[in-house]
Amino acid sequence: MHSLSIRELAHGLKDKSFSSVELTTHFLERIQTHDKTLNGFITVCEDEALTQAKAADDAIASGNSHPLTGIPIAHKDIFCTKQIRTTCGSKMLSDFIPPYESTVTQRCLEQHMPTLGKVNMDEFAMGSSNETSFFGPASNPWNLEHVPGGSSGGSAASVAARLTPFATGTDTGGSVRQPASFCGVTGIKPTYGRVSRWGMIAFASSLDQAGLLASSAEDCCDLLELIAGHDSKDGTSSNAIVPHYAAHLDQPLKGQTLGLPKQFFNDHLNPEIKSLLDDVIKQFTSLGVEIKEVDLTHTDSAIPAYYVIAPAECSSNLARYDGVRFGHRCDKPQDLEDLYKRSRAEGFGEEVKRRILMGTYTLCTGYYDAYYRQAQRIRHLIQQDFLNAFKEVDLIFAPSTPTTAFRFNEKNQDPLSMYLSDIYTISVNLAGLPAISLPGGFSHHMPVGFQLIGPGFSEAKLLNFGHQFQQLTDWHQQIPEAYVN
Ligand code: GLN
Repeated sequence: MHSLSIRELAHGLKDKSFSSVELTTHFLERIQTHDKTLNGFITVCEDEALTQAKAADDAIASGNSHPLTGIPIAHKDIFCTKQIRTTCGSKMLSDFIPPYESTVTQRCLEQHMPTLGKVNMDEFAMGSSNETSFFGPASNPWNLEHVPGGSSGGSAASVAARLTPFATGTDTGGSVRQPASFCGVTGIKPTYGRVSRWGMIAFASSLDQAGLLASSAEDCCDLLELIAGHDSKDGTSSNAIVPHYAAHLDQPLKGQTLGLPKQFFNDHLNPEIKSLLDDVIKQFTSLGVEIKEVDLTHTDSAIPAYYVIAPAECSSNLARYDGVRFGHRCDKPQDLEDLYKRSRAEGFGEEVKRRILMGTYTLCTGYYDAYYRQAQRIRHLIQQDFLNAFKEVDLIFAPSTPTTAFRFNEKNQDPLSMYLSDIYTISVNLAGLPAISLPGGFSHHMPVGFQLIGPGFSEAKLLNFGHQFQQLTDWHQQIPEAYVN
């Protein structure tokens, strides 16, 4: 059952080839067998999942169900789940039981999609390798000595190993697309505001966006349609109409144009990945797509701008973890200041502290103009570059990552080299645009992904391009050997 597509699972449930309880049990058993080595899950929700599966079977029997009813899912441990521990990968929240449900998970529960568990992530979504997780990193199922990427590393690893049909993730600077690329799965980061952020633990609020990871573009459609759309609880959520994404999948691509940003195909890009991407481009041309070079002039400034803006927002968002209201509290504080200092010193890991310090520094009077305001100017220029490019082309084609998944400990002593692994993804978040990462081949037995970036609210087109490519290729159907059975 774990190698079936979402559409096949939905048919199987409907024609009673299997029940949701059987399907959910199958995935729970896979988690039990395989997750000891993979460490994709922080919390497995066996009882809750089986209760939800029974309710799903009742809903299906009554003829009153959604296409996703009964299909289990794993949620990144950044989404608050009522009465289920939500850690955000941090010691700070290691025993936090939210009294409420995030909008994304709520919408899944309303359709009786069983929650298999909460998946591993970098602490507070800060990282590119899952190595900052308080619970230890998830591994890459293609080679357990390599990182799965981050911050949604548990989501990507568990989808790649088929421990769940799909998973939610979040993308502030690449955290859906980079791990999707490292693990050989499909990951979509919607337009900023397309999916509600309510109940999603905040890292950098002007960049954070919920997304999802699955085997294929087709598998993403119904879930994106379900979680997208206006939410009165999130002031930045858009009320643009949500299309029926699946209806766009089969549109022919003839006459559409893909832009190749010259700044993305530079020395940072591993030459073997570059040559694989050339083959991917040929597949698109065989579908009648025209290729055009585009100019994203300010690409080089994206990482510096992001590492001013994201830490600034994080320093403000994470101020709430003070040991008073929720989260880790130190033992026997002597006074209020001691309580704040020790609770935060003990509760946060090194990378989170580094970001809080950087953010607090750049927001200080005197430095604000020099750093924060400049970074916002760059952000505006990057947005303009994309707007200009989309006057010429329908979508932009880009690498997802400069290399394939690296080994554990290869980059975590050098923050800058770690930050550079998001070089192709970050500008998309600064511009608030949607993008999808798709599997495009293998280099030295590790997956290689590529990205399609679109104008605001072009998710239907991204999925359409992705699906057409996946009709020609089978990279998305590959399962790492140890997880085939
Ligand atoms: N890797 C980037 C960072 O560490 C992006 C993380 C994300 O998208 N959540 O900030």
